[in-house]
Amino acid sequence: MMKIFKDTAKADERCAAFWDMSNGILPIPRRELNCPSCRKRELTARRIRWRKLFPGEGSQFKFRCDLGFKCMNCSAVVYHGIVIPREMWVKVNELFPDQLRDQARPVITAQARDVRKILDDLGVNYEPPPEEKPEGDGTDE
Ligand SMILES: [Zn+2]
Repeated sequence: MMKIFKDTAKADERCAAFWDMSNGILPIPRRELNCPSCRKRELTARRIRWRKLFPGEGSQFKFRCDLGFKCMNCSAVVYHGIVIPREMWVKVNELFPDQLRDQARPVITAQARDVRKILDDLGVNYEPPPEEKPEGDGTDE
């Protein structure tokens, strides 16, 4: 029987295992992502939102990056809600200082093109590593 409410105690460790946080600004998937609808690898980052959870808002992990992708093939939109380290939240606040005038709503949003420019200017490689081919019989699927 599937449990629909999972244990979230180690969400930070799971996110760090799947997402590379080392550039300090944007989580990068450690492997290429497939579109959940058409299965193609045509996802492009679109809307990015970093946020600090409100007091009393559920989790022990207070900082998130909601990273949205759009599929260039079938137009599906998929969001990942990634637990990020506090240091990433602090750094993004420094990069977008004018966004936090409203301290009651601790959210920073950016378009992918703007974040890409920042990463390019910093010389950050943001491509996931190429998929390792599993040892097998050479057939796909
Ligand atoms: Zn698709």
